[in-house]
Amino acid sequence: MLRLGPVSLAAVSLRTMSSQVTRKLEGRVAIVTASTEGIGYAIADRLARDGAKVMVSSRKQANVDKAVESLQKQHGTESVSGVICHVGKDEDRKRLIKETLERFGMLHILVSNAAVNPTFGPTLETPESAWDKIFDINIKSAAFLVKEAYPHLKKTGGNVIFVSSIGGFTPLNLLGPYSISKTALFGLTKVLADELAPDNIRVNCLAPGIIKTKFSSALWQNEAAAAEFVNQIPIKRLGEPDDCSGAVSFLSSDDAKYMTGETIVVSGGMKSRL
Ligand code: NAP
Repeated sequence: MLRLGPVSLAAVSLRTMSSQVTRKLEGRVAIVTASTEGIGYAIADRLARDGAKVMVSSRKQANVDKAVESLQKQHGTESVSGVICHVGKDEDRKRLIKETLERFGMLHILVSNAAVNPTFGPTLETPESAWDKIFDINIKSAAFLVKEAYPHLKKTGGNVIFVSSIGGFTPLNLLGPYSISKTALFGLTKVLADELAPDNIRVNCLAPGIIKTKFSSALWQNEAAAAEFVNQIPIKRLGEPDDCSGAVSFLSSDDAKYMTGETIVVSGGMKSRL
């Protein structure tokens, strides 16, 4: 028979405690938009690992299917589901909320992660269509998605996390309108934090630095450009998607229950002052 002495018993109970601590989102239901790859996928993976039921989504069915399959393999079929949602489409936003409720029964956490950047160049040369697209997806759709989720978050005392960018603090070169949209997300965070606090809904924000994803590949695929960025980062490396996910798990958990209207910067030390 295996006998455990007092030291190994203590180790076992510590391990049990730490596995309980890491499942701090047990019983919660989360939606993560644009979560079939990159930062959104890493967030969905982390929230599921921390015990939440997670609804993933993006525009393309094939991407949703692939992400759901991969996440279900790790977290079980009961914990992860998926649905198409182009965040710029009202009917898609409505379906995302409806399917989440049908699948999981309630909603506690909304991570609004989708963003676009259709253009690079001087701000005053940006076509009006690009301005419209950036503000439509990055800001307006984020606000309207919260509007759709609001009645359900109100029932659970839930919370919202917007994914902004370090570019919202220090504008990224040739990405003016995108950077401005990310600054506007700090404003949306503050405004909704005030307006929704009486309903016991918290609203916070994440501002990642340069993270290695498809979205940012123009900034790091070229070796010289990547080296220039790394040089500006005190931690001396580009971020990985899972560098961002722990902060979102924290913000969405009770560990952050007295935090609202705030932004956590995950940038390896890149400067973050407006
Ligand atoms: P990514 O790896 O390129 O992933 C983009 C995801 O968004 C995909 O799942 C894509 O799937 C989905 N998507 C694109 N347009 C969508 C739309 N209109 N509606 C719903 N889903 C959509 O991007 P990422 O780098 O993780 O970026 C995620 C967020 O982090 C964005 O808000 C971005 O601004 C922010 N951010 C990124 C960095 C960085 O360096 N990477 C830095 C700071 C902030 P489908 O093609 O199937 O739609």
